[in-house]
Amino acid sequence: MLLAHLNHRLRERRQAALWRRRRVVRSPCTPTQRLADAAGGERALLGFCSNDYLGFASHAGLVAALVEGAQRWGVGSGASHLVSGHSEAHDTLEAALAAFLAPCIPDAAALSFCSGYMANVALLTTLGEGRAAIFADRLNHASLIDGGLLAAAKMRRYPHGRVDRLEALLADCEADIKLIVTDAVFSMDGDIAPLPELLALAERHDAWLIVDDAHGFGVLGEGGRGALSHFGLRSERLIYMGTLGKAAGVSGAFVAAHPLVIEALVQGARSYIYTTATPPALAHVLHASLQLLGSEEGAARRRHLGGLIDALRTRLTQIIALHPGCGWRLAPSTTAIQPLIVGDNATALALAARLEQLGLWVPAIRPPTVPVGSARLRITLSAAHSLADVDRLCAALAQLAAEGVPA
Ligand SMILES: *Cc1c(COP(=O)(O)O)cnc(C)c1O
Repeated sequence: MLLAHLNHRLRERRQAALWRRRRVVRSPCTPTQRLADAAGGERALLGFCSNDYLGFASHAGLVAALVEGAQRWGVGSGASHLVSGHSEAHDTLEAALAAFLAPCIPDAAALSFCSGYMANVALLTTLGEGRAAIFADRLNHASLIDGGLLAAAKMRRYPHGRVDRLEALLADCEADIKLIVTDAVFSMDGDIAPLPELLALAERHDAWLIVDDAHGFGVLGEGGRGALSHFGLRSERLIYMGTLGKAAGVSGAFVAAHPLVIEALVQGARSYIYTTATPPALAHVLHASLQLLGSEEGAARRRHLGGLIDALRTRLTQIIALHPGCGWRLAPSTTAIQPLIVGDNATALALAARLEQLGLWVPAIRPPTVPVGSARLRITLSAAHSLADVDRLCAALAQLAAEGVPA
């Protein structure tokens, strides 16, 4: 019965062009990716898929720091943080993260997590207890939605970016504790949330603002401090979640906030307490990654990335203007996430397949990850790309636009 049921569900998924498959990668996370092919051979593709925005995932200095960390600490932490897994490497990393965010959050403390998913679940379940209300942007990341569903609090969702609609919801709410929750950079659209307006609303309505900066940490703001710094925000009401597997190049996440918020997470967050601490060697290399973010090299990589974003947008705008019949739309994003919205699932898949024939790897993103009818190619850029890489992608897209939408 179970297998028949699963078989049925999976068949429906395949028919709706929603089938997902994993590709086996044989190279480190660099722009050129070697993939195993079905015939037992190998193919190199130029990829625009990763969230490794600064090229740190294969940075030689960080590889050396990981080796050094493993020699110093071994490979495993052995236990959860509250038992015996909290190493000095974790503690040092947390102090450095708190100092890094201190310009944005007065007296910030920081807590490291195994992943952003777990950090978001921890935040919403711990802060969103019975008497709280959660206000969430409709396009928030799945981990924030899941955290909200697990929390006892009532969750209300407002249309993407609509500060006016949020204000009406806040004005209408009697809850003692109000939490506004938003992605800083929306993961499938690349646009930046109106954080100054959201913080002003939080202040006016005695609410707290939880900011998920998975795609801004390391990339935006002074020294790569992220989206709060990008807008020059500073407030005790800010609760910041940054991930460490994207621009920071490694794995994990952290929350920076008022010390009482951090202590409440340590004492009560089940996704913090009931899981093995990450290997201390990862905390060791993350400390090196944080230093690299704030260095001249980090700044130079961010400048190079900015140049690639401008070049890509200029070329894609020209291509779409030249071929209005293709029906593509470039999302209004200034970040390294540059989605090309094509509409239906099959078109997105066909375009991705044609790009692959041309030696390029760009993921097709479909519902439920994005709203129905807005399937897209999610192009992401990295400082590890060259301008020639971007030119190659644009030349291929120009060719596909001229060919017309593949059937
Ligand atoms: C990737 C991502 C997460 C999850 O972070 P992981 O460390 O990969 O679990 C959370 N929020 C957003 C917006 C993300 O893009």
